[in-house]
Amino acid sequence: MIKNLICMALFASTLVLTGCGDDEKDDKVIKPVEEVDPPGAPPKTWEVDGWTGKANLKRVFYDDDVAIYYDGDMDPKITWTFKFIGDVWRYLKVVYQCTPDQRLFATLHGKGGVGTASYYYSDAWDYRNTIICYSDTWDENQGWAKDLITHEMFHVVESVAFGAHSYSAGYGDYPNGIWGDSQFAPIFQYDIYKHFGMEANARQWETQMKTSYADKPTPGTYWSLSWFLPIYNNYGKTEVLSGFFKLVGEHFPADRKLNMGEFVHFFSGAAHADLKTYAVNTFGWTTAYEQELQNAREEFSMIEY
Ligand SMILES: [Zn+2]
Repeated sequence: MIKNLICMALFASTLVLTGCGDDEKDDKVIKPVEEVDPPGAPPKTWEVDGWTGKANLKRVFYDDDVAIYYDGDMDPKITWTFKFIGDVWRYLKVVYQCTPDQRLFATLHGKGGVGTASYYYSDAWDYRNTIICYSDTWDENQGWAKDLITHEMFHVVESVAFGAHSYSAGYGDYPNGIWGDSQFAPIFQYDIYKHFGMEANARQWETQMKTSYADKPTPGTYWSLSWFLPIYNNYGKTEVLSGFFKLVGEHFPADRKLNMGEFVHFFSGAAHADLKTYAVNTFGWTTAYEQELQNAREEFSMIEY
């Protein structure tokens, strides 16, 4: 045991011998040399104020696209996260133009079952696009950890895509948002899994999407079955999702939330088709929605179908 500990200690720090010429034996000095990061590298440690109090995180991986940190509860032998997070972020960066000059930071915590995200314009996680994931399991073969990662990535995308510089215009429930926390994310995750050939994960989401509903904006609203899935399948798949965020990033003001009419108008622009019938079937239609739609068509007349 002691031997092992010593071996570990020697392995962990790089040692350098200086002045080791024959006649200088007495001057032999052993100095640990700390590896110096190149300029612009993300910090080796990061102290954050998370759900479970202050956490001292250790950088376990970084490249030009991502920087990944583990807390003390994470098993350091878990490394699949490096490639998975990197590959997905590289895809999202291109498709949704998410601040291509900035890394995505990921802080992974070994206990819990919750997550959140932060953005480059928020001081919450030191002005970094960040996904924060707490999970009791980090088994690569269980969908949960990947679902958690991609769900939190959605929050970054919805808030920074195509130069958007505000907390997502659609997050939250009508009239203070459109898709709540979790109504848009499933189709976004489904698209990721399809892109990476993760057929089993995609199938699982598809099944779930066909049966799940929310009580917002009205009871029994089948967001995925009646809106996202058919629009995704009939109007360009990835392109209709990214096209929607492109229009929002380019035209929508940063200081307020989308209303229902604007949501339908911007999505119709992305689909190059009038999607009002889908909206009526999915959300029900009120005079307020109709008025919002008419106003949106006027205010954002540059968006055509
Ligand atoms: Zn969420």
